[in-house]
Amino acid sequence: MAENQELKPLVVTSVSEMQRIASELRRAGKRIGLVPTMGALHLGHMSLAVAAKEDADVVIVSDFVNPTQFAPGEDYDKYPRTLDADVTLLQQIEVDYVFAPQPSEMYPDGFNAKVHIGGVTELLEGEFRPTHFDGVATVVLKLFNMTQADVAFFGQKDYQQTLVIRKLVRDLNLPIEIVVCPIIRERDGLALSSRNQYLSSTERQEALVLNKALEKAEELIRSGERDAPVVIDAMRAIIATAPSAVVDYAYIGDPESLVELSRIAGDVVVLLAVRVGKTRLIDNRIIRR
Ligand code: AMP
Repeated sequence: MAENQELKPLVVTSVSEMQRIASELRRAGKRIGLVPTMGALHLGHMSLAVAAKEDADVVIVSDFVNPTQFAPGEDYDKYPRTLDADVTLLQQIEVDYVFAPQPSEMYPDGFNAKVHIGGVTELLEGEFRPTHFDGVATVVLKLFNMTQADVAFFGQKDYQQTLVIRKLVRDLNLPIEIVVCPIIRERDGLALSSRNQYLSSTERQEALVLNKALEKAEELIRSGERDAPVVIDAMRAIIATAPSAVVDYAYIGDPESLVELSRIAGDVVVLLAVRVGKTRLIDNRIIRR
């Protein structure tokens, strides 16, 4: 295999080529790390790639806007596609491979499989985006198979997704480790997201209410508030100060099962989905006792 530093990352667009490379790496005894992304890379994605570099011998970042996790009417068509810029960023940290397959090769005519994880997919994001997690679980399993990764990196930013992936791995006995990395934020607290670029400058300012509401939740819980609805009301009051913000959910749940809590006794995860104008943002915070 060409190990020319100048060529890192090697961009692989064909599935069979990715599989051939992965098999060769496995045969050579390399530990393969995978970072699944939809591209439009920012420092949140980069933090996963850096963690992967520290842990694995070879790092593959997949860069694929997965059509099956978008519902009709969502932002699949307008989702930013910036492969060249993504490759330039990944060059700086010497990621080994960028896997950027075509949708037509991922989902050829006649493709007819779906991975459905039950339970944890049914609430929150699953309620607002009923087909989303089937699309996620299916593409992630395909990516795991294509790259033969030993370890894969996901962001806490998509908290419910991390639980779905862990369940996928557990229920289907997949031979892969899952690492969840912390949320990377702008200086002012806004969680980095490829969708932040949809926000107008006013909306960008208003979007700060998500993190402010999560901070308020933590402050209340740390100062002894045990009644979840009281905390949620306080969060909603903060979000209501942003004229273009509409709450899809504000939720306090068990960090493992996501079961909704009315009394706060141990560790909790606080989850938010808020539409700011036409842009739907999610954020969360784990509060440990
Ligand atoms: P996406 O490209 O949005 O599908 O995200 C790809 C991966 O990057 C997922 O595991 C996300 O959770 C993770 N990610 C996205 N935004 C952030 C962030 N601000 N901090 C850490 N990880 C993130």
